[in-house]
Amino acid sequence: MKTINIKTKSRFDIVDITDEVQKCINEEKVKEGIAVIFTPHTTAAVGINENADPDVVFDMKNALNKLVPQHDNYEHSEGNSQAHVLSSLVSPSLTVIIESSKIVLGTWQNIYFFEFDGARNRKVYVQIISK
Ligand code: ZN
Repeated sequence: MKTINIKTKSRFDIVDITDEVQKCINEEKVKEGIAVIFTPHTTAAVGINENADPDVVFDMKNALNKLVPQHDNYEHSEGNSQAHVLSSLVSPSLTVIIESSKIVLGTWQNIYFFEFDGARNRKVYVQIISK
């Protein structure tokens, strides 16, 4: 298993980790298989979205903030319920296909780490399984 260390910059941050995941695959020298990308945090997530227009990341933040407001009548005393709910909604885990030693992604797709309760030092684990 490989570990990617991420230093997020704000409470709500979206970080492109595509190159780091590809580096893990290069190090394992896997030609065909799958990679499971998992973050071991209850207030963060991983996902795939558009890489071309930075406005998409901005819009994702706005839309997720509207969907799950930061302040609502939450019971959780830590005050970060929004982050917990978004972690489950976006998902802490993701699987990608490896073909010809590369992650299979659409032209406009990249892999992102979603920080919902930063800024913090975070981890993403990558387990690569060869075919
Ligand atoms: Zn909490």
